[in-house]
Amino acid sequence: MNEGSALVLFSGGQDSTVCLAWALERYRRVETVGFAYGQRHEIELLQRPVIRSALAAMSPAWAAGLGVDHVLDLPTLGAISETALTREAQFQMSASGLPNTFVPGRNLLFLTYAAALGYRRGIRTLVGGMCETDFSGYPDCRNATLQTLAEAISLGMDAPYAIETPLMWIDKAGTWAMAERLGGAPLVDLIIEHSHTCYLADRTTRHPWGYGCGTCPACDLRAKGWEKWQAEKS
Ligand code: ZN
Repeated sequence: MNEGSALVLFSGGQDSTVCLAWALERYRRVETVGFAYGQRHEIELLQRPVIRSALAAMSPAWAAGLGVDHVLDLPTLGAISETALTREAQFQMSASGLPNTFVPGRNLLFLTYAAALGYRRGIRTLVGGMCETDFSGYPDCRNATLQTLAEAISLGMDAPYAIETPLMWIDKAGTWAMAERLGGAPLVDLIIEHSHTCYLADRTTRHPWGYGCGTCPACDLRAKGWEKWQAEKS
């Protein structure tokens, strides 16, 4: 068991990029894991190595702490999910009251796979960007879900796992503010330039908050958070 190590669920989006910086500030060794689950667009996955390199270039301490990257294939998740993230479909609310971008069980699977990987790597702290403050209502982002899962994983692996969610209780404006606290303007700029959140994988239009279509639910959240943060700063 390596003390002071963490495994960050790193998708290449804004939230997980801030989580990675957060972990690099706290843990001696930080590894990252991403999942190819048949998402419609793989642009996020393509941005992951770009972001990792840019973070390492920002700080010698971060460069020293940044460990191995893992990408796990979970095509079955895409195959069994009928969602707008894994199928060509319009974004809309489903009968359950959840947006059809919800991939059922996604975070449960991701964290369980991350825990299995961590078991082999001697890492018992898993870090994820889940948030229930201004989230899209995804039930697997709730704190109660994740803390109960940490307990189940700990029992099931007979090892004390922790799931850390630094963004759980802050909104998207707070996520921008956290980025600035962790890495100043260079980290904010890195997130704008390289992190990818847009559900439609649009990287042709650059907004003040980064690239995206500007209208999908993910762009909407990101833009609103940016505007709120700008208003709070002025
Ligand atoms: Zn978009």
